[in-house]
Amino acid sequence: MEKALQLLKEVYGYDSFRKGQEDIIAGIVDGHDTLAILPTGGGKSICYQLPALLLPGTTLVISPLISLMKDQVDSLHRVGVQAAFLNSSLGAAEYREVLRKAMQGEYKLLYVAPERLDAPMFQTLSEQLHIPLIAIDEAHCVSQWGHDFRPSYRQLAGWIARMPNRPLVAAFTATATEEVADDIAAMLRLNDPRRYVTGFARPNLSLSVVSGVDKKRFLKDFLKQREDQSGIIYTATRKEAEEVGGMVRQFGLDAGVYHGGISDSDRAQTQEQFRFDQVRVMVATNAFGMGIDKPNVRYVLHWQMPGDLESYYQEAGRAGRDGEESDCILLFEPADMQVQRFLIEQGTGDTDRKSIQMSKLHLIMNYSRTQRCLQQFIVDYFGESDVPQCGKCSSCLDKSEAVDRTEDAKMALSCVGRMRGRFGVTMAAKVLKGSRDKRLLEFGLDRLTTYGLMRHLPEKEIADWLYWLVAEGYMRLSEGQYPTVSLTANALPVLEGKETITQRVRATVRQAAADMSASSPLFDALKAWRREAAAKESVPPFMIFFDATLRDIANARPASMEDLLDVKGIGAAKGSKYGQDIIAIVAEFPDAGGSTSAVYSRTKGQTSAVRRTDNGEQPSHLQSLELFNHGMTPAEIAKERGFSQVTVEGHIIRGAGEGHDVDWDRIILPGQEVPILAAINKVGAERLRPIKDECPAEVTYFAIHGVLCKHDLSSGS
Ligand code: ADP
Repeated sequence: MEKALQLLKEVYGYDSFRKGQEDIIAGIVDGHDTLAILPTGGGKSICYQLPALLLPGTTLVISPLISLMKDQVDSLHRVGVQAAFLNSSLGAAEYREVLRKAMQGEYKLLYVAPERLDAPMFQTLSEQLHIPLIAIDEAHCVSQWGHDFRPSYRQLAGWIARMPNRPLVAAFTATATEEVADDIAAMLRLNDPRRYVTGFARPNLSLSVVSGVDKKRFLKDFLKQREDQSGIIYTATRKEAEEVGGMVRQFGLDAGVYHGGISDSDRAQTQEQFRFDQVRVMVATNAFGMGIDKPNVRYVLHWQMPGDLESYYQEAGRAGRDGEESDCILLFEPADMQVQRFLIEQGTGDTDRKSIQMSKLHLIMNYSRTQRCLQQFIVDYFGESDVPQCGKCSSCLDKSEAVDRTEDAKMALSCVGRMRGRFGVTMAAKVLKGSRDKRLLEFGLDRLTTYGLMRHLPEKEIADWLYWLVAEGYMRLSEGQYPTVSLTANALPVLEGKETITQRVRATVRQAAADMSASSPLFDALKAWRREAAAKESVPPFMIFFDATLRDIANARPASMEDLLDVKGIGAAKGSKYGQDIIAIVAEFPDAGGSTSAVYSRTKGQTSAVRRTDNGEQPSHLQSLELFNHGMTPAEIAKERGFSQVTVEGHIIRGAGEGHDVDWDRIILPGQEVPILAAINKVGAERLRPIKDECPAEVTYFAIHGVLCKHDLSSGS
């Protein structure tokens, strides 16, 4: 295994294996079929990529995630490994070309979408190539019991069995209960596989369930703290995705909307903008999922409860793949259960499948209301019982007292009891509210003694309360499209006064994680360099380096290539490609002994909607900004408006400082940001003249003001 460790360092730039990786790799290299369950972000890829490098021939990787394949292959190229993919995103000519090269054994790894495989294709590949290993990613897709069953996965086992020299098979997934794991091993016909479960906990995620809030207001406050972060908001329906997308834009942030009703090309474009950090917030239905491998997603917020805990954890788990602190928030209303029930009823599954889905729905309902540590609750579900409390989920942080609601419960239960299981929750809520609903009156329900008992509450709140009692097991809903509500045996002790009922209303969410990327001029300069490098190569910034790597560079201040290769995440290929640039940037920043954190007069958090004065006219500086944004230069604006150019430039910077949109690249020209930041680092941000003197002659005061404003650095002048 020494060789594996050496490759880990040389190729990927990592010093040690993560939990489980070493054993998994050793097992595969020793010739064992493998079933490995690692949490998202746990480092599955290296578990098959390293064996692929160690074994002779071409390893096949089966993955359903098209854009993930592309990212992986791009990343492999960046670290100097020959790899390619075959999937429907390739044109016919490209496809043939990859296939031709593959047949010549040019790749160490070949990624293939299962839909692209058929018996003859498998036959050809296995006859022409030496295939030592087939790695199957997202292996839970082969199981009906899993949450993302794909029929094309079912065929794999048969084809593999028919290959002349059956390769090793290694299956990987992040989410599988023991039942699903057994099913995967059986369905893929793994040969006496070694099983590894490294645990499901994600220590860098803070899980929260938030109930009883005005969602829109909550979202607004939540996003205000996270303007610069990438995040995903999941909704249950397309319509909601559009609505929430509209809200986010109304709050002044760019939002991409992604769902099944949007054309393929628009979806692809939105996804690219998100990957490239051009759009920060993605509002999506669960159609957005396949292939999101963006490592710096800082939060995943569910607008509604999804149908089962596996889907929830899978979707929420898209936050924080890079290992940095991230938040997963589930906004919950008891009535969400109804929506999910409806979706199950309307779904295509047979009765068996529907009843599995129904019991999964009850489980996530329990998650939404549990007072246990949420991380423990989830890992427990996946069969892991010895995980300590996380200390940062909404349950762990919840200090609220439980409220006694026995009297409310008695009213609700006796009302439902009197309605004799003939009506649904909505009608029961109307009766308790004392509604004059026509149907209610026709049925004479206004004559019940419980009519109007809860008239002090809004009807929706009463309905939520009834659903809560259902979820707690005091009442039950019938099956079918129009479920009726009736009492269970548990209701009796409450009605007889023998049991009290308490409820906690929770809205605790950890404050936004302290901005880990807190500025230092060097870190900002490295980010500016990365942005330009990424644009030049047309790749997302994270593909060049993660934030964490840039932060490590800023802290370690490497002065030589040797120092640089010591930084985590920099292997030989990236070192030789970018090393010179990075070392040169670091050298431009003499250690100023800490970060500059003074604040320029910029009011963060304001929306970019243009404010108007009382007489309807925009303030003067914003008029200049608007003209600038329409493409005019400061000199042209000055001429048109009768101001000096310096005044107009001041207008533009002021508007930008207030949070209005501006194209920074027209203020700070390419290549100038790094030297300006270096100068500020050296002489401080208090006075402009010394900064100007430190910079190359072509740098203007406008650009210096721009950098000070963009990076929130203070200036006395
Ligand atoms: P998964 O597929 O399990 O979600 P990935 O394979 O994408 O996870 O790995 C998640 C991140 O962790 C990647 O950025 C990867 O480079 C990083 N990583 C993997 N193994 C290690 C390691 N041994 N040391 C440091 N980082 C690692």
